[in-house]
Amino acid sequence: MAALTRLFKPQFSSLLFHRSLSTLSQTNSSPPHTDDPNDGGSRSFQWVFLGSPGVGKGTYASRLSTLLGVPHIATGDLVRQELPLSPQLDEVVNQGKLVSDEIIFNLLSKRLEAGESRGESGFILDGFPRTIRQAEILDEVTEIDLVVNLKLREDVLIEKCLGRRICSECGKGFNVAAIDAKAENGLPGMSMPPLLPPQQCASKLITRADDTEPVVRERLRVYKEKSEPVEDYYRKQGKLIEFDLPGGIPESWPKLLEILNLDDYHHKKSAAA
Ligand code: ADP
Repeated sequence: MAALTRLFKPQFSSLLFHRSLSTLSQTNSSPPHTDDPNDGGSRSFQWVFLGSPGVGKGTYASRLSTLLGVPHIATGDLVRQELPLSPQLDEVVNQGKLVSDEIIFNLLSKRLEAGESRGESGFILDGFPRTIRQAEILDEVTEIDLVVNLKLREDVLIEKCLGRRICSECGKGFNVAAIDAKAENGLPGMSMPPLLPPQQCASKLITRADDTEPVVRERLRVYKEKSEPVEDYYRKQGKLIEFDLPGGIPESWPKLLEILNLDDYHHKKSAAA
């Protein structure tokens, strides 16, 4: 915890450049305008991605991290790196339960420390905070600008988790599920084509041990119990932006950029490249 405090604190100065998001509300969301790609990187984003397992936090957080030039820090990835070293941790994760706060803060501190020594500033957190307590501690050590809450219907979340594959060599994520969910019970229909790997990865695909149906259902239950209250926590702070994913990446990415007021930024950056 002390390490976490020390590591977050230096970033307070960069907050002076931030437009305050305190007036944001769920219905009147207006994320910071970041329409100056020539600001030399002086702007440092401190964003959080929330959302159920399988919703695509990693996919969109990683794309935004590339666009904004800030690190994408996924606590799930940090935990997975530790699994071969700790059978106890492996057991917790493979039951779909949450890891203790102590372990998570330790892993996060180490990751931030490594980033700090590389001169990183800002972050897009993915998978953290996952409990009210984690959110409160994060608030004690730094200020979060914006929280993006990704949403998808539950049957699609399950299909997506079960279709997830990772290349054991390059680490890239793919999805073999061809999703075609019909509109029902007031839920919109949704289709997402599979995200298939290139030939060099095709024979090296692995499935996460916690992406089995019973474990995915348990992770969804744990999300509802422990993490949904975090959505409300940030909603009350006026920092939450809700985004109902309309489909796969080609439809969702431009819309996400639009609600984040980043579409212009994206165009200017592409033109400058
Ligand atoms: P998901 O696809 O469920 O969002 P992640 O890759 O984010 O999965 O996390 C995988 C697992 O790592 C979680 O099920 C949990 O056991 C552990 N984990 C990740 N982040 C946290 C956190 N902030 N607090 C507690 N446990 C965590």
